[in-house]
Amino acid sequence: MLDVLLPRRCLVCGAAATHLCAACRDGLPRIDPPWCDRCGAPTEWPVQRCRECSGRRLAFTRARAAVAYDDAVRKIVAGWKERGLRRLADDAAAIVVERIPLPEADVVTFVPADRRRQGERGHHPAERLARALGERWQLPCRSLVVRVRETERQRGLALADRRRNVAGAFAARPVTGEVLLVDDVYTSGATVSAAAAALRASGAAHVNVVSFARAVRTRG
Ligand SMILES: [Zn+2]
Ligand SMILES: [Zn+2]
Repeated sequence: MLDVLLPRRCLVCGAAATHLCAACRDGLPRIDPPWCDRCGAPTEWPVQRCRECSGRRLAFTRARAAVAYDDAVRKIVAGWKERGLRRLADDAAAIVVERIPLPEADVVTFVPADRRRQGERGHHPAERLARALGERWQLPCRSLVVRVRETERQRGLALADRRRNVAGAFAARPVTGEVLLVDDVYTSGATVSAAAAALRASGAAHVNVVSFARAVRTRG
């Protein structure tokens, strides 16, 4: 076991722990119902569509996430991206499986890395998480989505620009049945929707999205 490569401190609070202490793990801001049936945003009441997603054309059937993307989760995801930290992917997968019922699925896939950005850090959390979820849910994990052009960073872009930025950015290998699409963080849904559109154009009957964390605006 390459323990020397593991951080000796909790990524969130700095306490002595291999990477995430039990208190911080238990304190993660989990997303509980009620939520939007479609995009998984927390809402005051169960709703079919919410302020965040109504009127938007989304290519996925449903999106769900285990925890809200707050400062603690941001530190975890950063450690995961920058240093790999395979065990964090396993932890994240365990939290997802605890919190999210398995959607109908024949195969698991993931939003592909942007090669330029993967080059910067060499780790791809979405794929790690998808593989760990495939093991836990006993589903095959396949690399089905490819980037056909490079995109700008989504961070800092307005929603309309995010959608334009990723429109047509993906293609998919031929696939049938129900597909489970995994990403590490769900922000606006624009990226997973574009990837889901490619999967459906390649034969997927439906695409459900699962992510570890989700950006949460105020409940509404
Ligand atoms: Zn901690
Ligand atoms: Zn919604």
